[in-house]
Amino acid sequence: MSTSSAATTNRQFNTANLGYPRMGRHRELKFALEDFWRGRISEESLIATSKELRERHWKLQQSAGIDHIPSNDFSFYDQVLDALVLVGATPSRFGVGQQVTLESYFQMARNSHEQTAMEMTKWFDTNYHYLVPEWGADLSFVPNTSKVVGEYKEALALGIATRPVLIGPVTLLLLGKGVEGLEPLTLLPRLLSAYKAVLAELVAEGAEWVQIDEPCLVTDLTQEAVAAYRLAYAELSKLPVKLMLTTYFGALGDNLELACSLGTAGLHIDAVRAPEQLAVVVERIGPEQILSLGCVDGRNIWLANLVALRGTVESVAERLGADRLQIAPSCSMLHVPYDTADEHMLNGRIGDWLSFAQQKVEELALLAKGPAGASAAYVQNLLRHEDRMTAESSTNVVVRDALAKLKEKDLHRKAAYPERAVVQRDELKLPLLPTTTIGSFPQTTEVRKQRAANKGGHLSDADYNTFLEQAITDCVRQQEAIGLDVLVHGEFERNDMVEYFGEHLSGFAFTQNGWVQSYGSRCVKPPVIYGDVSRPKAITVFWSDYARSLTKRPMKGMLTGPITILQWSFVRNDIPEKDVAWQIALALRQEVCDLEAAGIRIIQVDEPALREGLPLRRADWPGYLDWSVKAFRLATSGVENGTQIHTHMCYCQFEDILDSIAALDADVISMETARSRMEMLHAFQQHGYPNEIGPGIYDIHSPRVPTTEEMKGLLTLALEVLRPEQVWVNPDCGLKTRGWPETVAALTNLCEAAALVRAEI
Ligand code: GLN
Ligand code: ZN
Repeated sequence: MSTSSAATTNRQFNTANLGYPRMGRHRELKFALEDFWRGRISEESLIATSKELRERHWKLQQSAGIDHIPSNDFSFYDQVLDALVLVGATPSRFGVGQQVTLESYFQMARNSHEQTAMEMTKWFDTNYHYLVPEWGADLSFVPNTSKVVGEYKEALALGIATRPVLIGPVTLLLLGKGVEGLEPLTLLPRLLSAYKAVLAELVAEGAEWVQIDEPCLVTDLTQEAVAAYRLAYAELSKLPVKLMLTTYFGALGDNLELACSLGTAGLHIDAVRAPEQLAVVVERIGPEQILSLGCVDGRNIWLANLVALRGTVESVAERLGADRLQIAPSCSMLHVPYDTADEHMLNGRIGDWLSFAQQKVEELALLAKGPAGASAAYVQNLLRHEDRMTAESSTNVVVRDALAKLKEKDLHRKAAYPERAVVQRDELKLPLLPTTTIGSFPQTTEVRKQRAANKGGHLSDADYNTFLEQAITDCVRQQEAIGLDVLVHGEFERNDMVEYFGEHLSGFAFTQNGWVQSYGSRCVKPPVIYGDVSRPKAITVFWSDYARSLTKRPMKGMLTGPITILQWSFVRNDIPEKDVAWQIALALRQEVCDLEAAGIRIIQVDEPALREGLPLRRADWPGYLDWSVKAFRLATSGVENGTQIHTHMCYCQFEDILDSIAALDADVISMETARSRMEMLHAFQQHGYPNEIGPGIYDIHSPRVPTTEEMKGLLTLALEVLRPEQVWVNPDCGLKTRGWPETVAALTNLCEAAALVRAEI
């Protein structure tokens, strides 16, 4: 698309935002929520904080020059739960009804002694987690508009006529699960009545536009879902309010015709994730419809390329007319941090390449004005963007060269699993049903305190190392006393399984305040991968080797896998993700080989995010699985046959990707199976999965200590489907959130269960 016209026209466009981050620049909402839950502040005080935040965020957007400012994008916990409250569809097991108080709201969101909270799952392919709707036949669908109307009026009182955000009815149904076999879409007619009532009230309050989010339109839809879309919008688009049908996280693809034909006043598309769809959307969009062009990345933190984007905007405007265009972020800014002005520690140059919510809002306004209206800002943006694209510090020729020279054989172990298993059995001399753990041991307050003190400069490296030596020694002695077969060092030196590795790899940067909401009051601060990844020196060898020196039993080395590091970071967008994953894999391969050379003969490479990374469209799965499985193999296949590679996943939904799980060719895989009572193992059996498996028999999410009998029962179930030589005995996941007493008690029972079952074989 031409960029020359961009430099000359003076045309202005409308701008829109789809959602602002809600935690607050200093995570005020997080702290207020946590204080409220602990009984330290009153409900009034929590509400006052939330009001302040909304006001601040609206005003920020207003002064930046955003035309369509969202409301109802705020949430005390989760926007999906808010949507259920709005339409009178909170799970009936809570008995909340229409009178939702903050107390009952949080009861649904958070576990308590009386009730298990609603289930949580990932919001599409982001790292945000929402509460899963429970669609039962007994829901009332009596709307409660106090929040959405309240926030609309609150903004209006500030002189801002907002565009309220609603999750669309079809997406809301599709995101939930049916209770007792109910098919959620059958509830659509009743749900629609609630939506109509909500929209009518917003109209009565004066709302001109409503943003209605239907991200499910970028996923594979069943015929029933397509019909549901037609039915829903045939009704909703008749109402006297302009609906901005909002899609994001991917291309409309085969749902494009559907999305364009629903009769809404506007259509928002994600032109960052799926830029290729722009041309065809411009062709197919209805003659009266307004296009909201999602062109500033709402998922990532890189500076927009304003000149190029303005060119795109201009060419779309030429086709549609300027008044049929809104300039928007690709999706809600919920997924990016607040303001780069809060980053003081970053290397100045990298800091200049970033754009957080505040900057993105400014980028939207600049795009609307065009270079003629904001030339200095365009020049500065161009210089920064070019600096980023050409920075030598981002390219490492040694890494690029090594990747270019990779051969097929570098992705394969020296021998196939059956042959390796013989060597490993011979060398490792483990008993049948070997016992082990997933890696971390309790991260006590003391451990966190010492680490923070060292990081803050209040505890010398020497003293911190002495502390770690002691912690590791105690941990090894405990494991010996418990009677575990394969020991670990306990991961006390690690803050987080991704951050720790990022801090030791080149190509990573860390923000001070780059927090994004993960769920509820929980925020994460993902590392930033800005350049080629390499490993300046060994990362884990020192502590693993120290732990190994303390015991005669085999010590397991512990690494985080390339896909997990990739998925939980903000990743550069100037080279394919696959290349970044393989660069990380190459660095980890060196680490794996160094561990082996240090005498660590069992090495675990955790990949809990492998499944999370699956694309939204089935058709894209094979491509992703191919490069991600190869990344794991690149990381792990440099070792001798006698060195045993483990992997760990924090879940066990594998039925549809078992071929890929098998293709990882890990000698041992451990996963969470305690709560589902080994159900998934049947799929492994049917698949003929050949390698070893450690199905978790201890649910580490609760402080409860499972009895020996209970774990013996689970182990027996596992042995009904797997060969005894195939089975390992371990907990579901790492023990970092547990306390020592329950950990020791549970692991003692676990070893006892293994011994009892062994005796019966
Ligand atoms: N090795 C890590 C631990 O034990 C694995 C954590 C995880 O699976 N998320 O904590
Ligand atoms: Zn886990």
